Amino acid sequence: MNYSDFKIALQEVPGEISICFTINGCELHCKGCHSPYLWNKDVGEELTLKKYTSILKKYKSLASCVLFMGGEWFENELVSYFKIAKSLNYTTCLYTGQTQISTKIKNQLTWLKTGPWVETLGGLDSPNTNQEFKELKTNKILNHLFQKN
Ligand code: SF4
Repeated sequence: MNYSDFKIALQEVPGEISICFTINGCELHCKGCHSPYLWNKDVGEELTLKKYTSILKKYKSLASCVLFMGGEWFENELVSYFKIAKSLNYTTCLYTGQTQISTKIKNQLTWLKTGPWVETLGGLDSPNTNQEFKELKTNKILNHLFQKN
């Protein structure tokens, strides 16, 4: 599983400081995709177990959540990486362009963002968006947290 970068993200998961990994190999190819370089699974660097755990340990006192932008196409690896995050007391979130993901992945998540990018509808901050940000424990859609008014 290759990643293109990781960063500390303040807005993607409301109320959380997230370590956000962007995973390469997205197969959805949405029209107007912000980052088409992510379509190639072979670019970027391998997110090895060693690198991943060392990042999670390094940022433990700063961040509260581990967020993956994509990666559902590497199901087993993603599940095991979310399990590690949970064992270190992080909450977990996946941003996927798909409308459904496997129960196996869902079982590891605190939050899930679904839906492809559709330029005319906008992202989570748009009232017309096709995307959903959900808290899985309660099944509540929390899009309102991204919208200003
Ligand atoms: S899901 Fe995201 S990364 Fe994948 S093609 Fe759509 S906009 Fe691009």
